[in-house]
Amino acid sequence: MIRSWHSSSLLGLVAVGVLAWAPRAAAFCRTTTTENFVPTITKPCDDAGQPLSWATRCVGYSVQRSASSQVGLERARQIVAEAFAEWSAHDCLATLGPTCSGAASGKPSMTAQDLGPVDCDAVEYVQGGSNANLVVFRDGDWPHDGVALALTTVTFKLDGGEIYDADVEVQSNPAEVKLAIDDPVPAGAYDLRSILVHEFGHVFGLAHTQPANTTATMFERYRTGQTFMRDVSADDVCGLCNVYPPTRKATCAPTPRGGLGNECGGGEKDKGCGCSTPGAGAGGAASLLLGAGLLAAFARRRRDRAR
Ligand SMILES: [Zn+2]
Repeated sequence: MIRSWHSSSLLGLVAVGVLAWAPRAAAFCRTTTTENFVPTITKPCDDAGQPLSWATRCVGYSVQRSASSQVGLERARQIVAEAFAEWSAHDCLATLGPTCSGAASGKPSMTAQDLGPVDCDAVEYVQGGSNANLVVFRDGDWPHDGVALALTTVTFKLDGGEIYDADVEVQSNPAEVKLAIDDPVPAGAYDLRSILVHEFGHVFGLAHTQPANTTATMFERYRTGQTFMRDVSADDVCGLCNVYPPTRKATCAPTPRGGLGNECGGGEKDKGCGCSTPGAGAGGAASLLLGAGLLAAFARRRRDRAR
């Protein structure tokens, strides 16, 4: 069975309630197969479900061809590539976090590759069809929680937690969100690269880090003018190295499951791209859960955070 839900969103904060957490060992968290897990201060990470991860050494992604009125396609591809590269650039042992154990020397066994733009702008996973791991900008109405700046939806195999597909949506309606794509980042704008580095942590299977890690890329809150999420922290590197150790035995198979699909719906396959179906075959019937229930769950999570 295959499940799909929103991994988490990056929240742009207007109201600021800085909570004081007692300092303690507090590391990264992983997204798991547990549905509707809501982090709390006493239980920031889910330990009941199976953690999610990709089976391959690399993820192939596609930027949606229309990009945004705030960032053109080629500039968007540049920033997306830089944001993905940030995750893969650091040596696991050299950047060992305080609670990171067992890291070996070397880069994490995970990279990302730009497979070229696609026309499809839908967040979807098509069982038996072609797919794309999408980065898409929403210049029109934002179909999710109004406070969220971006949203990553991860589709995975329920048994074992292998990630099959990940789609990142970025809110880019100029009337709602001013995106910064160059330095310096204006005080009232959101740094696109920071947003993307954070969301790509979700693509790789990381959840929001524990609340003590306020300077981590996977910290859940972000404000205009900030750029700290561009650079992954030791906690973030520890997370990626934990999921994808340098010594992991895996091959690079960037083609999405079923081949790279340019069109939505899985019907159209780009020539020459259906050459690889990484990972284990899907067991059982597909069950794509991308509906009102998940959005409601997300909204409930938001309310919990707002308290
Ligand atoms: Zn997030």
